[in-house]
Amino acid sequence: MVKAIKQKPPKPKKCKCCPVKFIPRNSLQTVCSPKCAIQLANQLSERKQKRLEKEQRAAWNKRKADVKPLSHWVNMTQRVFNDYIRARDGNICISCGSTTAVSYHAGHFRTTAAASHLRFNEDNCHSQCSACNIHHSGAIGSYRIALIAKIGLKRVLAIESDNNPHRYTREELDTIRARYRALLRALFKEREAA
Ligand SMILES: [Zn+2]
Ligand SMILES: [Zn+2]
Repeated sequence: MVKAIKQKPPKPKKCKCCPVKFIPRNSLQTVCSPKCAIQLANQLSERKQKRLEKEQRAAWNKRKADVKPLSHWVNMTQRVFNDYIRARDGNICISCGSTTAVSYHAGHFRTTAAASHLRFNEDNCHSQCSACNIHHSGAIGSYRIALIAKIGLKRVLAIESDNNPHRYTREELDTIRARYRALLRALFKEREAA
């Protein structure tokens, strides 16, 4: 006896374009009507166009970033690093101890001009009032005394004797920037929770 092959009744499908449910003629049919087919095709090409535009914009931004001089990325990275140092230390000057100054900077013990290789060294950079930072050229004598009290003579000597120049690459700067962005975020989060 030949078994009758029972054909499953086609299940209704939801149109990909409108809320209508329809009985597909075959498994490839995804829309209820020619009208929806056209609309779906338009939507897809619009999406494709948007994606293309987005890709072109990203490529353009990358090209623009690539032609920026390295100094631009050094400055961007310094800004992020300095933000972290100021957040880490709060409003207190390493040189004069003031806690009521109008503004505080991230002040390098060995300056970025003299020791660029220490520009992203956490031991070498501390919160400093703007007066000490700008007008007293770092108030370096009292800076050193306070620095020894804060991190110990050994680490101060390590900074003072480190004279290996370093040229940062774009990739290194990107990594450092990402690191201090993350540290800054973590610091804020920690304080919010406290
Ligand atoms: Zn439809
Ligand atoms: Zn000061």
